[in-house]
Amino acid sequence: MDDCIFCNIVKGEIPSDKILENENFLAFLDIHPEVEGHTLVVPKEHFETILDFDSSLSKELIDFIKEVYEILKKKFNSTGFNLVQNNFKSAGQIVDHIHFHILPRRDNDSRVLSLK
Ligand code: 5GP
Ligand code: ZN
Repeated sequence: MDDCIFCNIVKGEIPSDKILENENFLAFLDIHPEVEGHTLVVPKEHFETILDFDSSLSKELIDFIKEVYEILKKKFNSTGFNLVQNNFKSAGQIVDHIHFHILPRRDNDSRVLSLK
């Protein structure tokens, strides 16, 4: 997918602030953070939404998200997190490469997240 922003980030053709990477997944900071440490987790392979995502990667995905949060927890003194995933334009998906938003939270951070 030559014209996909996240495929280009995976290939290193667009720079990103990487948090963690393994064979199948990459986590990097969102360019327009909703909260400090707002991170995106993407599979390296291009899938548009959760409907075409390869379910055999699901366990690895959850384990990767846990590992990413352990890093964010320490890095941003976070005590909780929201996990957000938008599918299709009408649900607020802007980048057509499946991604999971990890939004680190703190007690009393007074942040109200609008569900798009
Ligand atoms: P969506 O609305 O599709 O769920 O979220 C897409 C996210 O990708 C947005 O939060 C946006 O800030 C982020 N984003 C878009 N382009 C780039 C980019 O080039 N680099 C990074 N790091 N994040 C991006
Ligand atoms: Zn892609």
